[in-house]
Amino acid sequence: MIEYCPCGNNKVYEECCKPFIDKKEYPDTAEELMRSRYTAFTLGKVDYIINTHIEKIRPVKERKKMQRWMNSIEWLGLSIVKTEAGQANDEIGMVEFRAIYIEDGYTEALHEQSNFEKIDGKWYYVSGTHLQNDKVYLKY
Ligand SMILES: [Zn+2]
Repeated sequence: MIEYCPCGNNKVYEECCKPFIDKKEYPDTAEELMRSRYTAFTLGKVDYIINTHIEKIRPVKERKKMQRWMNSIEWLGLSIVKTEAGQANDEIGMVEFRAIYIEDGYTEALHEQSNFEKIDGKWYYVSGTHLQNDKVYLKY
């Protein structure tokens, strides 16, 4: 049985997000970083989430709280809504996504536009704007 990567990219984990989470490789694009961060959330890899925040907003003190939250959530899937820039030769990028999860027995959707910036050749998460859920994107 083939175990696909949690990020939904139709690749096996070992050939998708794992090399990034293991720091063997670094994402070329903002979307790859976004996908690997989602996968890290599903696997409870809190250090990867923290370390892929841009340094000035790195939530080091939130580590325990984040770990507890991550362990209490069941992630159901990620869909990329759109991307702007964020390619291998860009310095900034935006990825809009929807992630579906179960928290306290309720199915929730996180719909966010995340901003990414490249520092010394590596992509980092800078900020995110939560969007209202709207019907256009309710495809689950
Ligand atoms: Zn992946």
